[in-house]
Order: sequence, then structure tokens, then C-alpha cells
Amino acid sequence: MKFVTRSFLSIFLLICFSATAQKKKPADALLPVKQAAIQDIASKYDVYKKIALQIWGYAELGYKEQKSSALLQQTLKENGFAVEAGVAGIPTAFVATFGSGKPVIGILAEFDALPGLAQEAVPEHKPVEGQAAGHGCGHHLFGTASVAAGIELKSLMEKNKWQGTIKVYGTPAEEGGSGKVYMVRDGLFNGVDVVMHWHPNNVNEIEFSGALANSSAKFRFHGIASHASAAPERGRSALDGVESMDYMVNMMREHVPSDTRIHYVITNGGKAPNVVPDFAEVYYYVRNPNREVVKEIFQRVVKASEGAALGTGTKVDYEIIGGTYDLLLNKTLAEAAQLNLNMVGGVKYTPEEIEFAKKIQATLGFKTPAIDEADTVKPLHKTEGNMGSTDVGDVSWNVPTVGFGTATWVPGTPAHSWQAVACGGTDIGVKGMMAAAKTLTLTGIDLLRNPSLIEKAKVEFDAVRGKDFQYKPLLGDRKPALNYRD
Ligand SMILES: [Zn+2]
Repeated sequence: MKFVTRSFLSIFLLICFSATAQKKKPADALLPVKQAAIQDIASKYDVYKKIALQIWGYAELGYKEQKSSALLQQTLKENGFAVEAGVAGIPTAFVATFGSGKPVIGILAEFDALPGLAQEAVPEHKPVEGQAAGHGCGHHLFGTASVAAGIELKSLMEKNKWQGTIKVYGTPAEEGGSGKVYMVRDGLFNGVDVVMHWHPNNVNEIEFSGALANSSAKFRFHGIASHASAAPERGRSALDGVESMDYMVNMMREHVPSDTRIHYVITNGGKAPNVVPDFAEVYYYVRNPNREVVKEIFQRVVKASEGAALGTGTKVDYEIIGGTYDLLLNKTLAEAAQLNLNMVGGVKYTPEEIEFAKKIQATLGFKTPAIDEADTVKPLHKTEGNMGSTDVGDVSWNVPTVGFGTATWVPGTPAHSWQAVACGGTDIGVKGMMAAAKTLTLTGIDLLRNPSLIEKAKVEFDAVRGKDFQYKPLLGDRKPALNYRD
């Protein structure tokens, strides 16, 4: 029943969107070139599959993505891009440029993995022996599709003698490292007209819901070591400092806006029960849809740490680890990308892939959507309550930005799960990635050939952002936290 209603809605909206598309002459004129581009990318399936699966196998953590970054850089160089590596003080960050003049189109490419999620490409939980990380967020597909789109746009520009500049941004450490924030702070996005990105997903849809602003920090307590039994009175426990702080922050939850998220892990709690710990560390995240609220709550968390130190006779200091803005959405660009995603369509499974998908869904332990949802495209819709955060947020407040997701994971699969890692290592993941590469390319064609689209997006961007906006990164002037995964 639900499916039927949804299908009707999709068809209705599709008709509406097609009607809008027909009104815009330039989009129609570009149809043959778009169709040819789809065919051309499709013909390179094996090339990009190989690259993506190589990065999937590397599974490198944030700021340590040497091999993954090098492979993407090499691919771009071989295809005529000029690559500047090690930008913004980050060894694995790069900007690959082709062309000159306006418009300047940026494409984001991520490639970091997550700790503790190593998993083979099979539909049962099977960690890879001796591997510490896995691509639970599909960033191996993310980086590869963005590179593929950059290369396709470049060849179209050459062939058709189109003006403009394509910049592919190699953006490390999205998972907690806020890599893009340093790149924005260093002015690497200055002069860019529009930025495109995408993200692996379990559905095909335009990103049209916000994200939470986020501040994270490690609080370090310093006490006095002593024999915990023979001379406890001489010691001051750094772990007491951490526990008191956590207690106060947990009390604070009742007195913050209800859409706030605060979470922590104790990353060092001492080494042995019979030694009063002279060092302990706790790692905090504070999130809210409004970054001003995040700033205020973060200061209250700092106060809690100071109170905890005072009461336990310890000392505390903290290091900001990450900080990201909420997402600034752009409806003009979202509508344009929707038409392209509709044209590309979803992901079709072979009978073997349907079997794989059924097995994955059976492991999820909740009611899952129909498998053929992977082959549908959702109409543009605003979903409330997106509780994730992304460093794309900072980009989106500096340049009009558009993003979308494609079904690289079996419908129902959550991100950051072993099931997502497994899907990402198969053709299910690769097919979703190719749909993303095509959608980025088609949207890039619109941006290169339809100046009024960029104009309209900028008018909307300026209006929503406000005249007085001044960019101040939440992580201040700290240097990139290159060792945050140590
Ligand atoms: Zn991600």
C-alpha cells in the first residue's frame, strides 16, 4: 500500500519535474550531449571499479590516506589535470585543476575509512584478518566517482571547446578530522562558483535536509600518581577529573535544547587499578542544528571540565579536534541535480545481487525496504531531523553547494556498519558509484553551459546566507589534527 502511494507520488512529481525541464530550453538542447556522456562513463566501468576496490582494500584512516590519495592523484594526472598536493598543511589533501576562466566548478572527493570496520565483501559478518579499518561510509566510492566525473567533464570541455575550470578537491579525514574546514580556511575554494559532492547511501535522492554543526575536543586531566592502596592520600586521580566532568555534562543534558547531541568516549582512563592515574582523557562531540548553540554548549562543557578539575585537585586542558558548520542548502541547484538523477536512474541488481541483498537485509534485524527501491529515484523532498554532521557544511557556507546520494548499499543498510563495508566491496557498490559519477557529470554540464543556473544559485545563496555573514571556522586557528586517529 505504502509502495503504491509512493509510486503515484513519484510519477506525479516526475511529471511535474519533466514539465519544468521542458520549459528550460538549454537543458533540452544538452540532452544529446548528456546521453553521450552517460554512455561514455558507462564504458569505463571496469577502470573505475578497479580504482574503487583498490582504495576499499587500502582502507586508510583519516589523514593517513597516502595510498588512496596518491591513486586518485595519479588517475587525474594521467588524464591531464594539474595536481597540487599537500595543500592546507595536510599531506593527503590535493586540488586537481583543468581549464581556465569562468565558470569554476568544484567537485569534492573523499577517501578515508573508519576504524574497527574491516569486513570482507560477503553477506555475513566476516572481519578481515589483520586489517584495522574498513570503508563503512563508502568514501572509496565517493572519491572515485568524483574523479570520474572530473575526467568526463574535462574531456567534454576539450571536445566541445567549452570554457571553464574544473577543480577536483581531494578532501581527507571527513570522519571526525574536518579536513575540508582547513581547505576552506586556507582559501582553496575562493573564486569557485559551485561545488558538487555526493555520498554513498541506501537510496537515490538529492540531499535536501540539513546537518548538525559539530564541535569536538579532547579534554586531558593531569593528576598525581601514587600507590592506590598504600598512599592514596598523596594521589590526585586524573580519572576522577574525567568522571566528574562526565557526570556534570550528563546532568546538563536536561538543560540544553532537545535537538542537541552530546557524546563522549574515555580514550585514556589510566593503566592499572593499583596506581592513581596521573593522566586521563575524554573525547567529546557537541552537536546542534544551529552552530551558535553549539558554541554556547561547548563553552558550558569546558566549564564542566574546569569545575571537575577544581573539585578533584587535578588540572585540565583541552584540544579542539574538529568543528563543522551545519549545511547550507541550495534549492536552485538541488532542482537541477534532481532532473539529472532522474535521467540517470537507480541501480539494477542481477539475480545474484538480489540473493546477496536478501542475505544482507536478513542480518539487519529490522523491517527493511523493498530491494527494488535501489532502482528508484526519490523526488526532491525535505526531511527533518538529519542528525549527522559533515565538513561539507563549511564548504556550503562559502560556495553554493549541491549534493545527493546514490544506492551503493542494499536498501535499509545503515552507514558505518559491516554491511555497508561488504556492499562497498561488490558490484552493488560500484553500480551506485557509477550512477553518482553520471549525475555529477550531467549537473556539471548544466553548470558549464547554463550561466543563468549559476546566477540564480548565487542569488539564492546570498539571500539565505545574509549580507553580514563572516566565515569563522568552529575549530579556530588550530593546525590540522593530523594524528587524531592515533
Ligand atoms: Zn561519509
